[in-house]
Amino acid sequence: MARDYYEILGVPKDASANQIKEAYRKLSRKWHPDINPGNREAEEKFKEISAAYDVLGSEDKRRLYDEFGEAGLHPGFDEQQARRYRQWSGGRQQGAEGGGEPGGEWAAEDFGRFRSYEDIFGNLFDFEQEGPAFHERARGRDLEYTMSIDFVSALKGVQTEIAMDKTKVCPTCRGNGIDPGAGAATCTVCGGTGRLDVARGPIQFTKPCPRCRGTGRIGKPCPTCAGQGMVSGVERIKVSIPPGVMEGSRVRIAGKGEPAGRGGTPGDLYLVIHVPEHPFLKREGDDLTMEVPVTVREAMAGGTITVPTVDGRIRVKVPPGSQSGQTLKVRGKGALNPKTKQKGDLLIRLVVKVPRTEDKEALDAAEKIERLYQGDVRAGLRL
Ligand SMILES: [Zn+2]
Ligand SMILES: [Zn+2]
Repeated sequence: MARDYYEILGVPKDASANQIKEAYRKLSRKWHPDINPGNREAEEKFKEISAAYDVLGSEDKRRLYDEFGEAGLHPGFDEQQARRYRQWSGGRQQGAEGGGEPGGEWAAEDFGRFRSYEDIFGNLFDFEQEGPAFHERARGRDLEYTMSIDFVSALKGVQTEIAMDKTKVCPTCRGNGIDPGAGAATCTVCGGTGRLDVARGPIQFTKPCPRCRGTGRIGKPCPTCAGQGMVSGVERIKVSIPPGVMEGSRVRIAGKGEPAGRGGTPGDLYLVIHVPEHPFLKREGDDLTMEVPVTVREAMAGGTITVPTVDGRIRVKVPPGSQSGQTLKVRGKGALNPKTKQKGDLLIRLVVKVPRTEDKEALDAAEKIERLYQGDVRAGLRL
């Protein structure tokens, strides 16, 4: 279950808009990724804080959240309908407890299976058509994970496999919970259709038959999953990260999120890419900047130097009289933009390295060089 948004921001339920804003400011300053580079925990915290403020910072969203929980925030959520449904289902449950009302028992049983309104509305409002027909073909939730990729691999792209702990559809019974090795008979409650029609209340729907759990057959419980239809385990997922992927981009892996109930569509898996900094490469947009050391002679006399790139080593001409900090541009040797498929430029920032020496000849040479400066090198340095 998701954590309570009020708890995340550390404010009481009746906090004023200003209190919420203040709490958010304080927390986001503390956990901002720029202040905590490379700290995964801070990154998660910051995301949580932002998500909480996104809701509690908006008057409308906060009101829906207070009344319906996270379900109220789902796109397409219908407040009126939800209220009527809740009223109606509450009435039915009371009827069931009072005994006597036929069909009342399944309502109570049914509600016991849901953990919150979110589960009910999450399923109920997932349907595209009007007049929702209630059944178990809900979609599994999307999952989001952060994946760290080193700078160079992010430029080149990565094919890898990740191992994820997650529940999956039972391979023995394929999710229906029935032992495929044992014989099965047609369910007498639903006559084998797996559904029961319910024609009461403002919303008409069918529900899965509770006796056969929507399968239409009565059989022995599956020995692998004890009839649950799901087993927990590790799934290995092939992941292809495109070349040039940027910090913070989301890579979608279809169908690898949380599985749904029987017959449902699984959610998607999103990998949020984190690229830690590189010691001498920097990315700005699609351009790469690289600091490249050169010798005094290379800077003074010019020359050809060899520089590594992700496509292999390239030769670059350093013009005579180059200065420390001067930039040489190599077109098309920057990062690939995954969207436009265009490559940025490589900007080589020269850094003149001076040897440490007490050698007399070398120091004499430096003395000779000293005389070549025209005037004071710091003449332009004024505040
Ligand atoms: Zn099974
Ligand atoms: Zn049945």
